[in-house]
Amino acid sequence: MSTVGDKFRIGILTVSDRCSAGLAKDESGPNLKKLVSGELLDGNVLAEDIVPDEVDRIMGILFDWSDKLRLDLILTTGGTGFAPRDVTPEATKRVVSKEAPGLSTLILQKGLEKTPFAVLSRGVCGIRGKTLIINLPGSTKGAQESLEAVAKVLPHAVELVRDSKKEVEHVHRSMGAQGDSDPEAAPPSVHSKVDVSKVALRPRKSTWPLLTVPDAQWKVLALCPTPADPECLPLTARLLGRVLATEVTSSDPLPPFPASIKDGYAAISSDGAGRREVVGSSEAGVTVDGVFLKPGQVVRVNTGAPVPSGADCVVQVEDVDLVRSSADGTTELEVEIKVAPKPGQDIRPLGSDIETGQTVIAAGTEIGPAELGLMATVGATTVSVHRLPKVAVLSTGDELQEPDKPLCPGRIRDSNKLTLLSLLAEQGFGDTYDAGIARDNPDSMLERLTAALEMADVVISTGSVSMGERDMLKDVLINDLGATIHFGRVFMKPGKPTTFATLEYKGRCKLVFGLPGNPVSATVTCHLFVLPALRKMSGSTLLLLGTIVSAKTEKDISLDPRPEYHRVSLDWQPGNAVPVARSTGNQLSCRLLSCLSANAFLMLPARTEFRQTLPAGSIVEALLLKRF
Ligand code: AMP
Ligand code: MG
Repeated sequence: MSTVGDKFRIGILTVSDRCSAGLAKDESGPNLKKLVSGELLDGNVLAEDIVPDEVDRIMGILFDWSDKLRLDLILTTGGTGFAPRDVTPEATKRVVSKEAPGLSTLILQKGLEKTPFAVLSRGVCGIRGKTLIINLPGSTKGAQESLEAVAKVLPHAVELVRDSKKEVEHVHRSMGAQGDSDPEAAPPSVHSKVDVSKVALRPRKSTWPLLTVPDAQWKVLALCPTPADPECLPLTARLLGRVLATEVTSSDPLPPFPASIKDGYAAISSDGAGRREVVGSSEAGVTVDGVFLKPGQVVRVNTGAPVPSGADCVVQVEDVDLVRSSADGTTELEVEIKVAPKPGQDIRPLGSDIETGQTVIAAGTEIGPAELGLMATVGATTVSVHRLPKVAVLSTGDELQEPDKPLCPGRIRDSNKLTLLSLLAEQGFGDTYDAGIARDNPDSMLERLTAALEMADVVISTGSVSMGERDMLKDVLINDLGATIHFGRVFMKPGKPTTFATLEYKGRCKLVFGLPGNPVSATVTCHLFVLPALRKMSGSTLLLLGTIVSAKTEKDISLDPRPEYHRVSLDWQPGNAVPVARSTGNQLSCRLLSCLSANAFLMLPARTEFRQTLPAGSIVEALLLKRF
């Protein structure tokens, strides 16, 4: 038996029209499961499914199992032959980023030792992310023999493919993403160059220049990278909110035939009004081949049905009386057209909505329900979209504990991580990692940051950016990770200590947002600085800074010396174009309650000598918390 340190996480996908329709029993899949769960490999089968021989369906599962479940190994069985419906290799090739022809050759070589028919399997092997995908033939015997052929090399192959993952998992375990966040539980295994022991020598004033919010935002947008290479995803993948990397064009005209707009009768307009012979019917979904309308004739048509040749108009049923029908009432024989029709009336000509080859959705468009519908209409079943950036969220602080444990003395529950992870998911940036809690010592901070950088393009940390002796994030970023801090203070309330850095990690540019620890500050600054960057990195071009509307203040508001992002609930009242902004109450930056029921941040100007208070009824800009 071949084994690796950790059990393989395996998925078995049976590809068969017959099995998927329940017309045949899947025998190969269960047999493979037995073989990989102890007999040939030491694996855990975590996913099993049966799909018909359809490229999109196969790709959908392969994407899900490699990107979301992050399985080590996916075995497909079936669909590798020469029959027209056999498309598993084609689907697999579109999913993998690297092919592994050696494995396919080994399978072929061993197969040929048994039968020359082995050449009839076109199975491919390849790698997507950390997942090895192997196509096996559909027959139980063929699949078993092919698996036996590669069983010896699989443990090592999987180990190689998941190499970095092991490293990440190791760090992950020590990071507390699985609940272990006790500082004493796992002493950091790295050593920071930062010395925080000389408390008395710490600066009393921040030396970081104070940037305005717009300056800081533009700095972030200028420094964040453009989208990475796009990926091809099937229509069945979760595409809502993703941005198209390439335009979508139509391969057929729409409608693909002259179609009726009404329920009625296809007729010849030059016949005018009067009696007509009903010579047949045309229903949606049925072709009317062979019917050619002659003068004096009509054909009954439904909305969306093809208009038969010879007809040049449709007369709606409301404008037609029945004159004569068959005795049993099943057939209309003669009708009377009451209103003379016009040529082209109530017909959508072929290709009148969409022409063949027409661009129906431009590159750069954010995909919404209508876009998805259009893609389905034009048969664009796989589309190229910009990849989502991977984001890690890290909390910092000795006082923090995971929320699921009883509260220890002197501790508070970590709320920032969940708030920010949820905010990212809500805004369509769901490729996130919980990077745990870093403790207030440089070693722990470095260890957690490194682990987060390992996994993500963008790291968001909260806390450790103010003036306390425990606020060491910037020092660790600069001294241990060689980061460039682009700003360390912003003239705003809340969120003054917001920090933004970039660094090169293993040859790749990474962004680090050091947000303040107070829950409201973390939320506000995530909206103002992080989300715009993520939008740009995901290919969005419109409204990168969010949606800003005008709102009317309900009560007098006393202004702060800094521009304030005041949490409000906007209320649109009938007849009033401008919504009323109701404050959510006490705006202390630690009071997450002020974010409850808030749907906007009122962007209040800084207090001046001449204006200390903003009177009720003032018109102020407000940033909506959901983008439109
Ligand atoms: P800091 O910026 O680290 O000084 O933190 C400022 C305040 O925010 C302190 O009262 C922290 O206890 C609190 N805080 C920091 N991180 C979190 C968090 N993840 N969840 C809840 N409160 C936090
Ligand atoms: Mg702290």
